[in-house]
Amino acid sequence: MIIHLQTDTPLTLILIIAVLGMIVYMIHAGFSYMKKRQHIYQEEIPHKFTTVIKCLNKDYSAEREFREGDFVGKIEGSCPKCGNNMVIDYIYALYTQKKQQL
Ligand SMILES: [Zn+2]
Repeated sequence: MIIHLQTDTPLTLILIIAVLGMIVYMIHAGFSYMKKRQHIYQEEIPHKFTTVIKCLNKDYSAEREFREGDFVGKIEGSCPKCGNNMVIDYIYALYTQKKQQL
């Protein structure tokens, strides 16, 4: 692309160069910001869900790996101690990788 510039005053040329430089800088800054954001996103992704099951009589609780379809209050078999229903008490997530300090 050929841009015909009216360079009657050197100030106009300086101004154009300055504006172009700013645009290039902004694009570059935007790209590095996106790359940084993507990096943080990838750092936070590796985590493991754990499901905590508790007996309704509160005499027994167990932890196991989260399975699809798990929700708090779901009945999960019977208690090995008293035979009462076991329900999912809570579900938590653990990061398997430490978050990078910025
Ligand atoms: Zn029980």
